[in-house]
Amino acid sequence: MTAPAGQPYEYQRRPLVEPDWTRFPGWRTVTAAQWESAQWQRVNCVKNIKQLRTVMGDLLDETFYADLDADQQRLATMSMLIPPQMLNTMVPDRTPDTESFYNDPVRRYMIPVATDRDLDWPSHPHASRDSLHEHDMWVAEGLTHRYPTKVLAELLSTCPQYCGHCTRMDLVGNSTPTVDKLKLSLKPVDRYDAHLAYLKAHPGVRDVVVSGGDVANVPWKQLEAYLMGLLSVPTVRDVRLATKALMGLPQHWLQDDVVEGMQRVAITAQRRGVNLAVHTHVNHMNSLTPLVAKAVRTLLEVGVRDVRNQGVLMRGVNATTADLLDLCFGMQGEAGILPYYFYMCDMIPNAEHWRVPVWHAQQLQHDLMGYLPGYATPRIVCDVPFVGKRWVHMLTEYDREHGISYWTKNYRTSIEKDDAEALSKLHAYYDPIDTLPESGQDWWRKQVADEG
Ligand code: SF4
Repeated sequence: MTAPAGQPYEYQRRPLVEPDWTRFPGWRTVTAAQWESAQWQRVNCVKNIKQLRTVMGDLLDETFYADLDADQQRLATMSMLIPPQMLNTMVPDRTPDTESFYNDPVRRYMIPVATDRDLDWPSHPHASRDSLHEHDMWVAEGLTHRYPTKVLAELLSTCPQYCGHCTRMDLVGNSTPTVDKLKLSLKPVDRYDAHLAYLKAHPGVRDVVVSGGDVANVPWKQLEAYLMGLLSVPTVRDVRLATKALMGLPQHWLQDDVVEGMQRVAITAQRRGVNLAVHTHVNHMNSLTPLVAKAVRTLLEVGVRDVRNQGVLMRGVNATTADLLDLCFGMQGEAGILPYYFYMCDMIPNAEHWRVPVWHAQQLQHDLMGYLPGYATPRIVCDVPFVGKRWVHMLTEYDREHGISYWTKNYRTSIEKDDAEALSKLHAYYDPIDTLPESGQDWWRKQVADEG
């Protein structure tokens, strides 16, 4: 007799648990009051190898630190910045050792090491800084007009945490030995005034994504003034605040002044009929803890319409059906976060080991269907350079041998206003070369050799 076939994924409710931070030698005496203090979390962020050693004591072998140092010297596009809250979600269920720390999904993107990377093809030949060309589409400093009715407002270039795969590695964070970062030059107040002036002059723009960096690093009074300014523009109908800190530093969003300020902003948005939402960035179920859920519910209680997730799909982190569904059920069922998008990791330098090919993303989208409520089933999207977000099944042509997919668009961006061909052009997106058949990999080696 054959055993009855089960479902490919078996759902089981998993209540959230705050991992015990005292399992880390450096935090043995840290109290709950310290842990829940945003200020303690910020002061105790891990910014370098020395501070990581202090927290980890003798849990990790020297090989790990040498591997990390090699990455920071030669490959990292982001500097290190990890709030204790995030570090505490690595190997959450026991005291870490070298092997479990190496294998941890959150570690893999927050503390990348040299041996994680694909050393044959660390970068795709078409990878670039600012791979989405956001700066090319700046209409004022930090204001990207890339879609007809929407703008992205980058208020600042810092975050409370720096993620190894950051798409905005060109601008965000401190310079690293491999990347000299761009700098915003205007004073914040002048930059913000320029954004408001553009929105007032362009009533066709109805949707503003307020981002960075991470808005949790904007001093609250400045952020509130900016948001109230947006809400005073009658043509702005959607405001979305982007903050990974809701997961990485939920303590920030639980501070009294921030909660009271968010309530004022949410009430004003409701009175004016504006959809105010918060977008966060969670990539793995282990990052969801009761404190994250508390911060989310607090935002919803003060009147924010919705909290949604925009995760990034990455090999070694979450690019399996089970990992994505575990995360989506955790967000939807336990943390009050709508699973909204998973972006394919962008074609930035040294990110090949994280990126997945389009066919793999299509397969994952297929396999996610039918488990979650329809409105909470995330879309997996590819942000195609010069095109914008496309659902992964929307490609026009796909050359699997060379890993090149072709995409079209249905609107002009701010740099194509006068381009008659803009809507008929095919735009290319490239799969990671190590995922191609041998013939495709040979073809790319030849391309690089011929150009080189
Ligand atoms: S929080 Fe967002 S903007 Fe900041 S480093 Fe991470 S991915 Fe980049």
